[in-house]
Amino acid sequence: MTSRRDSLLQEMGLGPLWRLRTARQDAVVAGAAQSGDAGAGAAGAAGTREEIIARLDWDGLRSAVAECRACALCRERKQAVLGVGDTAADWLFVGEGPGAEEDARGEPFVGQAGKLLDAMLASIGLRRGENVYIANVVKCRPPNNRTPQADESAACWPFLERQIALLQPKLIVALGRPAAQGLIGGEISIGAARGRVHRHGGIAVVATYHPAYLLRSPQDKAKAWEDLCFARRQMAGETSAA
Ligand code: URA
Repeated sequence: MTSRRDSLLQEMGLGPLWRLRTARQDAVVAGAAQSGDAGAGAAGAAGTREEIIARLDWDGLRSAVAECRACALCRERKQAVLGVGDTAADWLFVGEGPGAEEDARGEPFVGQAGKLLDAMLASIGLRRGENVYIANVVKCRPPNNRTPQADESAACWPFLERQIALLQPKLIVALGRPAAQGLIGGEISIGAARGRVHRHGGIAVVATYHPAYLLRSPQDKAKAWEDLCFARRQMAGETSAA
């Protein structure tokens, strides 16, 4: 039966926020209940892992990511890397996954690729942390900085979806193929995806090359610059339409 406190909280729209998660729900989110009746995606008492994650606030999300054991990447991480920046940002940049420095420091894009990303942001008048949020497809470092595997991206995807839902950015910049594939869908290459506006749940998505790729292939930096200018024009349109 619903208590008076519950119905009051529900009327104020606070019910689910203030309800403590049970140990079992924590285990389902962490992907820890792998044997028996509740695998990483199986239904628990209060819903599937995806459904539970979809109700988390920022604090809940931060602890769920820190404790996550839903794929093998958790085994070698120093720490999971949720994301960084302004949680009221209009801009969301999504990379692939943390590298060694990100794993050590707990912040995305702090190594060489991060320096280039900061320069890319500056080139369109943006700064890390100011109206910008930066996240990755996977929150744990793939060994030897390899591309995340499909099952790893899939296990981590509900966390990114929740970040998007909480942020409600006006525009997402997908940095590299794994982010573009997840956000746009399908087996898409950056060459084919760039220069157009895609939509993810109604939010504008623009794809460009990953900064680590640009470090290896500087001849494509001019294309990335075009993409960022395109994104900036698109953001101006999204903002004036709002
Ligand atoms: N590359 C990424 O995709 N993300 C990071 O956080 C660092 C490097």
